Amino acid sequence: MRKYPLLIIGGGLSGLAAGIRFARFGQKVLILEKHSKIGGLNSYYHRQGKLLETGLHAVTNFARPEDKHAPLNRLLRQLKIPRRNLVLHEQIFSEIIFPGRASLCFSNDFNLLLQQIKEAFPGSTLSFTDFVAALDQYDPFVLKANISAREYVSSFLQDELLVEMLFCPIMFYGSSEEDDMDLSQFVILFRSIFQEGFFRPQGTIKDLLELLLNQYKSFDGEIELSAGVDEIFTENNRISGVRTSAGEEILCDNLISTAGFPETRKLFHSADSAKTFSNSNAEKISSRLSFVESIYLLGQSEIKYLPKDRTIIFYNLADKFTYHRPIDPIDPSSGVICFPNNFQGTEKDDVVQLRVTHLANYDAWRKAYDNKDKSMYRSMKKFWMEESKKVVGEIIGNCIENIVYEDSFTPVTIERYTSKLQGAVYGSPDKIKDGRTNFENLYIAGTDQGYLGIIGSMLSGVSMVNQHILNKT
Ligand SMILES: Cc1cc2nc3c(=O)[nH]c(=O)nc-3n(C[C@H](O)[C@H](O)[C@H](O)COP(=O)(O)OP(=O)(O)OC[C@H]3O[C@@H](n4cnc5c(N)ncnc54)[C@H](O)[C@@H]3O)c2cc1C
Repeated sequence: MRKYPLLIIGGGLSGLAAGIRFARFGQKVLILEKHSKIGGLNSYYHRQGKLLETGLHAVTNFARPEDKHAPLNRLLRQLKIPRRNLVLHEQIFSEIIFPGRASLCFSNDFNLLLQQIKEAFPGSTLSFTDFVAALDQYDPFVLKANISAREYVSSFLQDELLVEMLFCPIMFYGSSEEDDMDLSQFVILFRSIFQEGFFRPQGTIKDLLELLLNQYKSFDGEIELSAGVDEIFTENNRISGVRTSAGEEILCDNLISTAGFPETRKLFHSADSAKTFSNSNAEKISSRLSFVESIYLLGQSEIKYLPKDRTIIFYNLADKFTYHRPIDPIDPSSGVICFPNNFQGTEKDDVVQLRVTHLANYDAWRKAYDNKDKSMYRSMKKFWMEESKKVVGEIIGNCIENIVYEDSFTPVTIERYTSKLQGAVYGSPDKIKDGRTNFENLYIAGTDQGYLGIIGSMLSGVSMVNQHILNKT
């Protein structure tokens, strides 16, 4: 029977980063990935001869090479990937629009946001400066009980509209909680979105994934695709190994699961082990948040109508910005509109891409998908995409007409391809901040450990290996 010092469940970004970190010290490690491709939530597929990315709008945490302490540069050092191997295209600028009320632009230069707040919210300029100074002092990586970010932010900023506008991108890009979030999570996202900023690596997500995979393999890391873990075994309160979907049993000294916390619990077939893993698993699953993501490829004739300067627009049309599971299948009243071609220095393409994200109701999509009449799901998709297009038209003008190709995926699609229960992109509202579980050699990394997004999930994989595994071997 095969045995490894470390087994990793999941070949998404956190699993790949954890694998590289461990393998670079000459340790044997195996990643087991259920899907036939790596990447998890941030993967790719092909349609119409084009590579389409499932998740990439923009990578957060932009940093210049000389900023040695920045999360991006620290991550690359930990993975032993020279920064010069990556060409990064910075965003032009992004915008938060609450039409008829206010607009705030921000870029990778934080001064732009400061200036915009000074102009749009002159009465809040000083309190915003105090707020940023307080955030700069805050250490989000010290473990502490959850603090409401809403209450904290509102204790500095009295203008409710400004508070909502700041929360809009932060929630869309990383909140697994409805309408509020833990302060530490807020601070991490505030820094990574507003103070560091957005970029795209040259090429596509496939290139980034291949870079990571090649690095992993160069250290003799092993990976098996279409090799889901079906069961986790325990012995004397420790994990002893796993059984794969092919029926093979593989033993391990340590196990890292990036599948998610409730998803990992499901892999314990023995009731006792499941109970030891967690007594209180499923109660939060009902409020998990998911999205519908639409991708439009537009022909040349539309290009002239599209904004050329903005990279991402975060918008809200409702009186109050809310961020929770909608009653309808999607909530087009708020969302994210991303222009992946609008990064500095990217090559011109014959088609232009537009991506649109809205909060979605998993149960509604699941019910339609499970209906015997398969046309129901398709027509629901069609109806809501038309509603979405109308709203997007209100924000950027009616420019999505000459559509060469369009595709949308729902919470059900996300669940099918990534095994995230209810398609919860940001996982469980309760995070396992230290990555520890009740089994001393099982750790949670990635989304449910609490670091999110492309850089966050990779940092999570690396830090779980650093904190829990390397010191043992
Ligand atoms: C539509 C969308 C847009 C996004 N946009 C951005 C963006 O612009 N910028 C950004 O930074 N982030 C973005 N994200 C978020 C980002 O993709 C995720 O935060 C990150 O990829 C999470 O990585 P992970 O490794 O923690 O989890 P995952 O990617 O979920 O990886 C877990 C892996 O485990 C595998 N798995 C599950 N169960 C098993 C099992 N039993 N056995 C074996 N394998 C298993 C899954 O197949 C998956 O590959 C987006 C996500 C989505 C869905």
